[in-house]
Amino acid sequence: MAWVFIEETNGQPAVVGLELLAKARSLGSPTVVYLGTGSDEVFSTLGDHGAGEVLHLVPQQASMGIAQAAAAIAQLVADRPVDLILFGQTYTDRDVAGRLSSRLDRPVISNAVDVAVDGESVTVTNEVFGGTQLVDTTFDAPAPHIVLVRPKSYAAEPVGGSAPTVTAVQLPDAGHAGDASVTGSFAEKAEGPQLGDAAVIVTGGRGLGAAEHYALIEAVASPLNAATGATRAIVDAGWVPYAKQVGQTGKTVKPDVYIAAGVSGAMQHLVGMKDSKIIIAINKDEEAPIFSVADLGVVGDVHHVLPRLIEALNARS
Ligand code: FAD
Repeated sequence: MAWVFIEETNGQPAVVGLELLAKARSLGSPTVVYLGTGSDEVFSTLGDHGAGEVLHLVPQQASMGIAQAAAAIAQLVADRPVDLILFGQTYTDRDVAGRLSSRLDRPVISNAVDVAVDGESVTVTNEVFGGTQLVDTTFDAPAPHIVLVRPKSYAAEPVGGSAPTVTAVQLPDAGHAGDASVTGSFAEKAEGPQLGDAAVIVTGGRGLGAAEHYALIEAVASPLNAATGATRAIVDAGWVPYAKQVGQTGKTVKPDVYIAAGVSGAMQHLVGMKDSKIIIAINKDEEAPIFSVADLGVVGDVHHVLPRLIEALNARS
């Protein structure tokens, strides 16, 4: 029996949670532990993705809810059979999983890209060295096993499941561990196609030379209805906001087409985009590591190649 922890974001189940449901339903009828206000629409979405049951943790106003959620799950685990609890590799999920690990005295394996269950044995796969090697780890401790899974490890797919049973769970007092309140939150304004769901992504790196040249990336993206991405180098340089960062400490993406311009292809960048279906790289250095994952490589100056690409794309539309 697998449980999936899902946090509510902007009134909807976090997408990574729906991805994990795709995995969990291959192991039986999964239970979702849902942290958020919830609604009929939310629960119907969870059922549509295969949830048979929802344990609904309702956070108190302004409370972070994280310590209380971990305490609640620890209590639920004591009363119900559960072998595996899946979390997404997100800030909230990491926080809840870590506290739950401490409460249950169980190990937690993070950064997983796959989880395999064979009888009572659970094996977790991690990528290391930029995804060039895989490491399998099995739990020796008794269940429940706690695993944090990277976004995009599975594809979220509705299966037309019926409405799940929903049980409201009171959040227990978590003592001083829960004494923190959210006093304000800021949602970065998102415009145009987003990295998480765009079919095409155009990413710029330091090879663009200056912040104002990121306009070239936007000009390529526009006729393709693509999302725009960035390397950490240009995020750190303040050229674009962190929300655009692709890689180990940014977003993991798997678009149909990923165009990388002026990007060296450092391991920490590759780990976030190497599973894209088609990778096109433009770099003036033919030895750049990005070419090792590229399906199509253009050795050239971005200031020469991108304007011609923009011209060709605009002539087409
Ligand atoms: P550079 O490595 O400087 O590469 C620029 C490239 O542009 C070069 O290959 C050069 O040949 C090419 N170039 C230069 N001029 C031109 C031109 N005119 N035309 C064409 N090509 C040109 N990085 C990420 O991206 N995402 C992450 O999430 C991330 N997380 C990290 C986490 C940790 C713990 C650490 C230590 C690092 C992380 N990094 C991450 C940073 C990473 O190691 C690299 O420093 C970064 O990806 C490099 O960005 P870049 O390719 O834009 O710049």
